[in-house]
Amino acid sequence: MANEKRVAYVTGGSRGIGEAIVLALAADGFHVVAVARNKEKLEGVVKAAAEKGGSVEAEAVDIADSAALTASIEKAIEKHGRMDVLVNNAGITRDGLFMRMEDKDWDDVLNTNLKSAFVSCRAATRTMIRAKWGRIINISSVAGMIGNAGQVNYAASKAGLIGMTKSIARELAGKQVTANCVAPGFITTDMTDVLPPQIKEKVLEIIPLRRFGETKDIAAMVAFLASDKAGYITGQVIAVDGGMTM
Ligand code: NAP
Repeated sequence: MANEKRVAYVTGGSRGIGEAIVLALAADGFHVVAVARNKEKLEGVVKAAAEKGGSVEAEAVDIADSAALTASIEKAIEKHGRMDVLVNNAGITRDGLFMRMEDKDWDDVLNTNLKSAFVSCRAATRTMIRAKWGRIINISSVAGMIGNAGQVNYAASKAGLIGMTKSIARELAGKQVTANCVAPGFITTDMTDVLPPQIKEKVLEIIPLRRFGETKDIAAMVAFLASDKAGYITGQVIAVDGGMTM
């Protein structure tokens, strides 16, 4: 028997933006399969959701391993009999000036940030098409829209997500499956905490709203796109960036 709740599969759900997305979707009544490499951290999110009555399960998967990611999604579909929402959120950076960038830093970022999203979409969509309802939400970045010095690999992966998402949106629109990107600006998480104070000050200067974003700012947009209210939105890139790209 299929799970009565809509099922959402969220990568990178153990911390930062992904954790906020998992908790927001659980609060909205989804059963969430939260994925990351560190199972212990994921268990903390499962517990936090359960304390508020939310239903989350943790799954340790390295999304850069295409076979493992495909198997994990197939297992979730088999277990729950459905897959309604897919959020490709997990991502990494390996920053450096492009003239000195090693192939490995390019490959690691492209595999984790872009190829994984292709693999997971491919694994999840057949079930969505059958149900004639589905939401694919890919977490891109303003770096994919306007570029960023020192992030040629990261910006390429995030721009690639945009082209991929728009193409998937066109292929699946007739089946009432939507695909959209959310492009965060500068959000306070582990990923941005490592940046030196002088870089943070410079970034703040180009944010019209004059503050860094919070994980809940992104989670709110993802929760909206995952809802029935967003059924007429597809192929879009929605920047949640304090006005950086206006
Ligand atoms: P974060 O705090 O560094 O968290 C990254 C998440 O991805 C963690 O849950 C991590 O868990 C998981 N992850 C990384 N590599 C993985 C792998 N190979 N397999 C499975 N899970 C993996 O990052 P964040 O700031 O929340 O960013 C989330 C997304 O938003 C990313 O795609 C990022 O590019 C995008 N974004 C962030 C910002 C920002 O300002 N923070 C801005 C624009 C876009 P494990 O390490 O346990 O695997």
